[in-house]
Amino acid sequence: MSEVDIDDPRRCQGIRDGRQCLQRALEGRTKCAVCQRSPEGAVRNFMLTKWRDRIQRLSCNDSVQSLRDEVGTLKMLLETALNRCQNDDDLYINSTQIANLAEKCERAVTSCAKLEKSSGMMLDKGAALQIAGNIVSIIGEFVKDPVIIDQIGEAIVERVLKVEFKED
Ligand SMILES: [Zn+2]
Repeated sequence: MSEVDIDDPRRCQGIRDGRQCLQRALEGRTKCAVCQRSPEGAVRNFMLTKWRDRIQRLSCNDSVQSLRDEVGTLKMLLETALNRCQNDDDLYINSTQIANLAEKCERAVTSCAKLEKSSGMMLDKGAALQIAGNIVSIIGEFVKDPVIIDQIGEAIVERVLKVEFKED
């Protein structure tokens, strides 16, 4: 395989590391042997997964996570306890247990919210939309098609608005 000039018409149309590949395309094809074997879709999915993982790692807060797990477990226990009750008598007999679970659940939810707030993990909607705006302008530096930028912007704002935000 040989590298070509950037404006050589036989230049491979594949994308590597975010740039157009520098190899010569195979005879009668639009891509070189390597890009031929790694279709853009696979590369794209790989990059998306890589970024999702990276962002998840950056936003991961262990104590918040373990509290969230606890909330999940308590909710499940509470649901199970309620489902076991077939009638008012069952409810009455199990009321102490149910009340205990409900109280624990509420406490865990409250500490979770406090912890998230104190660790700066919760944004208000204004800050989140500002970040969304920044993201769209970064995308605008790389994507030149205004229709695509518009669609990406719409999609990002729509997702941001679906997130739950702190009240104050
Ligand atoms: Zn290539």
